[in-house]
Amino acid sequence: MMRTKPDIRYISEEELGLFLKENGESAFRLKQIKEWLWKKGAVCFNEMTNLSVVLREKLTTAFTFQNLTISQELQSCDGTVKFVFTLHDNRKIEGVLIPSPDRVTTCLSSQVGCPLGCQFCATGTMGFTRNLHFTEIWDQFNVMNRKALEYYGKEITNIVYMGMGEPLLNYDNVMMSIQLLSTESGKGMSSSRITLSTVGITKGIRQLADDGFKAGLAISLHSADEEIRKRIMPVTKTNSLVELQNVLRYFVEKTGKRITFEYIMLHGINDSLDDAEKLARYCKSFPVKINIIEYNSTDSFFKGSPQKTVDTFVRFLESRNLIVNIRKSKGQDIRAACGQLVKRVQEFKDSKVQ
Ligand code: SF4
Repeated sequence: MMRTKPDIRYISEEELGLFLKENGESAFRLKQIKEWLWKKGAVCFNEMTNLSVVLREKLTTAFTFQNLTISQELQSCDGTVKFVFTLHDNRKIEGVLIPSPDRVTTCLSSQVGCPLGCQFCATGTMGFTRNLHFTEIWDQFNVMNRKALEYYGKEITNIVYMGMGEPLLNYDNVMMSIQLLSTESGKGMSSSRITLSTVGITKGIRQLADDGFKAGLAISLHSADEEIRKRIMPVTKTNSLVELQNVLRYFVEKTGKRITFEYIMLHGINDSLDDAEKLARYCKSFPVKINIIEYNSTDSFFKGSPQKTVDTFVRFLESRNLIVNIRKSKGQDIRAACGQLVKRVQEFKDSKVQ
């Protein structure tokens, strides 16, 4: 029976070192190969031009690259680009590039689908298929980084883990991908340009604090009222607001970092002055900044709050000396905005398809 070749990025440094030794290669080849894989983002052995042809052939015989491929590429009128990627097992995930005058941000997925079923989120309706391996998370970055150069003439400057899935339910792979993106032997990006967004998995946040997490932490809060939160985000049934508050205090104590709260404005659900008052009280426990996000209509029954309601809500929070930013959604016309990522290939058949 023919043995399936492993993806070179899946095998450990020790195994690769052993392979090189067994093939009579010098130890420094390991460093060169690692640089090609994680710094330069090679997608095939032929790109590794400082290796001998013989070594490249040996590597090709022993290993492969299970690269994800772009099956759809959709550009919004505001410059945002959404990619539908096909994984080696034919599963689909999505990633987004979001340009602004001073940066190019990418939004990465961490799971195929999501098990948490937040009511306002299109991905939540897909159900959960599997976790992404760290190489698949990294590969999204790598492919979109090349695309960022094509579209905007510059590389990705910022990364948010806000795509499909809950990153803290795929802890080890997400952490490994952040390490590859932020260490000098990897992509070398500053940790301050990477943000992990979670619905508030308390066990995972404690682990981040204990592991000396250096990137930014954003919490999809969306309500500081336990009953409302339970209704729109079922995960709250086992990760209560009180537990979340306690673990965030712990996180801030350990890391000294300011937390970001993401708050989607849902008309008639979480946008009253009473909701703003509860949010202001909840924020008293630690340094926070609040991102108010306009809601992107999906197939759910929620509606975004009217502008006047948003303005009143924001003014109230500011009157309590809280730092508040209003985040205008990008890529709504291609369903690339927050809460809109879902595999929906048919809808895009008239769009640019690769
Ligand atoms: S908002 Fe995030 S955690 Fe909730 S269902 Fe969507 S992808 Fe999952």
